[in-house]
Amino acid sequence: MVWTILERYQQFLAPRVEDPPVARVVQVVVLRWTDSYAIFTTEGDAINTETTRAGYQDHGSITRAVLFKRKQTAVERRTGKEWRRAYAEQMDIPAIWNGIRNDREIESIVRCALTQNLCGACPDCILYGFAAQEEAKGSIPSRVWIDSAFTIGPADDAVRLFTLNAVDEITHQTGTALAEQEHLQPGIVFPAVETLMNVSAEELVYVLANILRTRRYGAQTSRTGVVQNRILGVFFGDTEKFTNLDLCRRLYDRLSDDGRDWNQLLPEDVQTIWPEVMHEVLKSYDGVLKPMEEWPEFRKQLSALMSDEAQVVALLRRLEQQAAEYARRKTG
Ligand SMILES: [Zn+2]
Repeated sequence: MVWTILERYQQFLAPRVEDPPVARVVQVVVLRWTDSYAIFTTEGDAINTETTRAGYQDHGSITRAVLFKRKQTAVERRTGKEWRRAYAEQMDIPAIWNGIRNDREIESIVRCALTQNLCGACPDCILYGFAAQEEAKGSIPSRVWIDSAFTIGPADDAVRLFTLNAVDEITHQTGTALAEQEHLQPGIVFPAVETLMNVSAEELVYVLANILRTRRYGAQTSRTGVVQNRILGVFFGDTEKFTNLDLCRRLYDRLSDDGRDWNQLLPEDVQTIWPEVMHEVLKSYDGVLKPMEEWPEFRKQLSALMSDEAQVVALLRRLEQQAAEYARRKTG
């Protein structure tokens, strides 16, 4: 069970959901691989890009494709919310909140949804954060920190421009309106770090499950944007050391050689050099941060948990209870 392994790291995990920030840090290093064409854009027809320093050894600058932070958190949150909703009846959410919140409030907790109907009390709201519309309700800062992610290599080779034929919904005829839209090729990798502040063991498992269970990112997700998330490692400590662009530069230095085709990068290429990069990052910054040594075993147990309905319901119920306990303490 995942819980046995996590007990060994309990000093870096919160015993319960609580307010005052404590420097218990968990970092999750993820590789996001595009597995179909993807549209990562804030608006318009161009993929978001940024000019950055290529590496630490290579001081040249390259233009990288960007996956903005909100595009990552919003989808992973949604995955978690859909998970909770799927098992809501088995968990019996109203029973957990009974006596803590009134019927109308419980209704909004059960129905909590992004982005207009956030309840401010459920496990998702108190973990990923909640901005109150009314001052009195009180906002909750996110304890899951996600930053914009960049491609390791240059974007120029990764972007394809497609002309989309606008199909008329009534006549099913292709109209004369043609739209051009940039797409990212399959096989592009974005290293991405998620930093969790003062989370409980259950909250950590929930975030990991949301990362592993999210399959699509970006615009037009019903047709494009399949992404495979591979977790390279989980780290526990009192400080954050891994950051996205820093990782990109270190990976770039090791992976760039003459004629490197960045669109043909294999997961194994990164996996092979990862231990070296990991140790370099851990040494480069001060503070305590150590890898979960049992990660390969833990990953298997995590798979088992996510595939077992009874374990999923138990996890979601425990999260709901923690949120309810937190609400009870807050309201006295
Ligand atoms: Zn909520």
